[in-house]
Amino acid sequence: MQYSDSILKTPSSFIRNILKVTDAYDVISFAGGLPNPISFPIDELKQSVNDAIDANGAKVFQYSTTQGYLPLRQYIADKLNNKQSNLNYTAEDVLITTGSQQALELISKVLLNKGDGVVIEEPGYLGAIQAFTLREPSFYGVTLETEGLNVEQFKDALKQPNVKMVYTVPNFQNPTGLTYTKERREEVFEAVKDQDVIFIEDDPYGELRFTGEHLPYIAAGKMTNSVVLGSFSKTVTPGMRLGYILTKNHELLNHVETAKQATDLHTNIFAQYILHQYLTNNEYEAHVEKIIALYKTQADAMLAAMEKYFPPYVKYTKPEGGMFVWVTLPEGVNALDKFTEAMEKKVAFVPGNPFYTDKESVNTLRLNYTNATPETIEEGIKRLAEIL
Ligand code: PMP
Repeated sequence: MQYSDSILKTPSSFIRNILKVTDAYDVISFAGGLPNPISFPIDELKQSVNDAIDANGAKVFQYSTTQGYLPLRQYIADKLNNKQSNLNYTAEDVLITTGSQQALELISKVLLNKGDGVVIEEPGYLGAIQAFTLREPSFYGVTLETEGLNVEQFKDALKQPNVKMVYTVPNFQNPTGLTYTKERREEVFEAVKDQDVIFIEDDPYGELRFTGEHLPYIAAGKMTNSVVLGSFSKTVTPGMRLGYILTKNHELLNHVETAKQATDLHTNIFAQYILHQYLTNNEYEAHVEKIIALYKTQADAMLAAMEKYFPPYVKYTKPEGGMFVWVTLPEGVNALDKFTEAMEKKVAFVPGNPFYTDKESVNTLRLNYTNATPETIEEGIKRLAEIL
């Protein structure tokens, strides 16, 4: 069988593949990107299952609308509006997706023809690279600096006539843990505001800030072609696969709806009812605060251990929230070679390669801190330091 060119050009998830190796019981793994399971509100969700069925009967088991469960869409619009006063979202601006990963896939399906341009952070979220690659676009990577996108490179990329969309993760980015500063957000907005492109802000980690103050979105509330993506994966549970798209561009949203009909008709409605029950009957904010406290302790432990054990020529980011630290080794060191050495010491990370659209050998790597105790984190970093 000759499979399609697009699937043959799409790499299978590097992380999912290496997790098969790193999940061995005696390996200290900083490789995954999973929320800590102790953050799942299991008892409350169990209660919400019963409440959802009691309150809605057969409807929770029936086919439903492609846009999603209206009260949940309203909840999401209100949540965003409460966070930032200029947004004014309504339920009509919200579409519920099967995780925000599906939003990436659907948006690229409705926007991109083969060869169309996508501007993406470099390094960037590999799930987005994977979703977009299925459409065989041209990627224009723009360096992600400590403060956010490099503005000069960004302006140059926008000059390319085939650019249709820009993809950013402004808060606690995956893989770097970096957050755009307020000034850089404004500069990026100035550069893009008059362009005919869709500007995506993918924000699954935004609520998980453990230091500093919450910053406004780059383009949301200021331009019709702004799209915000969100998810309940990191704050409630990833297994229920509930994410969302928010945009005032209803032409785009209608096309996304059509694409979603073709993909899965609608997002799991049972899960949407359960989540809505959970959100309306529990202290969601207090729950998120607990996750933040947990991740802060873990991030602090990792940064303290790196400070103590890493040689001074190894550089790393200091996240203000989220789940990741990004490490830069000296020029010329290949992170893939280091991965093999690290596995011999029974410690794992993700080499930086899959986060770039066009680089084979890189000196960067991603560490996740949300799945180990502070003691294990210290031991893992100590082992890692021995091979760096
Ligand atoms: N965007 C980013 C930046 C992510 O890190 C992830 C999860 N790893 C997703 C989207 C997808 O999350 P989900 O589909 O679970 O909402």
